[in-house]
Amino acid sequence: MLEKKYPKVIVDLTKLRHNIDEIVGRCMEQGIEVAGVVKGFNGISETLELYEESRCTAIASSRLEHLEEAKRQGLASPLMAIRIPMLSEVADLVRIADMSLNSEVTVIDAINEECLRTDKRHGIVLMADLGDLREGFYNKDDLIQAALHTEALDHVDLLGIGTNLGCYGSINATPDKMEELAALAEAVETALGRELAIVSGGGTTSFPLVYQGTMPKKINHLRIGEGIANGKDLQDLWNIPMPFLYTDIFKLQAEIVEIKDKPSYPVGEIFVDCFGGCGHYVDRGIRKRGILAVGKVDFSLDSQLTPLSEGVEVLGSSSDHLIVDLEDSKETFHVGDVMEFELRYSTMVFLTSSPYVKVEIR
Ligand SMILES: *Cc1c(COP(=O)(O)O)cnc(C)c1O
Repeated sequence: MLEKKYPKVIVDLTKLRHNIDEIVGRCMEQGIEVAGVVKGFNGISETLELYEESRCTAIASSRLEHLEEAKRQGLASPLMAIRIPMLSEVADLVRIADMSLNSEVTVIDAINEECLRTDKRHGIVLMADLGDLREGFYNKDDLIQAALHTEALDHVDLLGIGTNLGCYGSINATPDKMEELAALAEAVETALGRELAIVSGGGTTSFPLVYQGTMPKKINHLRIGEGIANGKDLQDLWNIPMPFLYTDIFKLQAEIVEIKDKPSYPVGEIFVDCFGGCGHYVDRGIRKRGILAVGKVDFSLDSQLTPLSEGVEVLGSSSDHLIVDLEDSKETFHVGDVMEFELRYSTMVFLTSSPYVKVEIR
C-alpha cells in the first residue's frame, strides 16, 4: 500500500451543513421540498448522513452506487434515482431506490414487474422535456398517456412529474418554463382525476426563481446538487450574488514537485500537445514556474481550478502534471510545499471520483 498524502480533496462538513440549511430553508419557505443531489462529489459516504439529518426530503443521485451506500448506512431518507434508469439496472433500482425519474413506458413496466416479483413498491416521476433536449417526454400528450398507463399499474406509484433545464440545451429556467410545467401538471391531474404529490421544477438552475420569488406555486419540489455543494454557478454564471453560501466546501491540495525559472513560450517547432490539441502560449519572457503532482486524469479541466494563493496562475496541464506561474506571487514556494485550489462543479466531480486523489473529511 502506498502512503499517499497528496493530491487530496478536503471536504468541510460544517460548511456543507450550512449550505444545505440555507438552500433548503429558502425553498421550504415557499412550500418547495428539496431532494439533496450527491452525484457531484461522488456521493462521498461521510456526507450522506448530513443530508439525512437535514430538511431534505430525499437523497438523490444519478448513480445507484451512491444510493446503495446510503442504504448500506441504514439512512431513513427516501432515495431518489435521477438518471432515467437503464433497463438492465431495474432489479438494482427497485432494490435500492424508493423512487426514480422516468421517461420510457417500457422501463416503467419493467419496474412494475420487478416490484411484483420482489413484493416492493416504487415511486415514478415522469419527466417532461421542455426544450433542454435531454430526458423526458417532448410531446405533452405522450406524457399524459404515460401517466394514465402508470396510474393503472399495480405495483408502482405515480408520484408526479418533473423537468430538467440547463443541462444539455443550456435552456434557462424562466418563470415561463415553470408555468409550462405547472400547466402540464394540471393537465395530468385532470386526466387522472387526482392531485400529484410532486411537481419537480429542476435542479440548481431553477433555484434563482425561489430566491427571487418568481417560482409558480404549483412547483413544489427541486433536486439540488451544485447550488448546495459548490455554490458557484449561480453567482459566477448567473450573476446572482448569494453571500449566504460557502463556495469552498471542497478544496484541492496538491504538492509542488518542481520550481524553475523557464521561458513562458515553448522553445522549438510548435505542433500538438499530449491531447492532440494545441495550447495558447504568450511570450512573457523568463518566469518562475511550478509543477504540481496532479493532472487532467484527476480533474479534467484545469481552467476550473482557482489557486487560493494570490498571484498564482494556472498555465495548463497534462495527464499527470499541473503547471502554474509563480512569478507574481509574494509567497515563496519550495518543492514539497502544498498548494490549495478552489473547485468548480466539473473539477469537484472528477477529483472526488479519481482513485488517485485522497478525500479528507473535516
Ligand atoms: C444532476 C441532476 C440534478 C441536480 O443538478 P444540479 O445542477 O447539481 O443541482 C437534478 N436533476 C437531474 C435529473 C440531474 O441529472
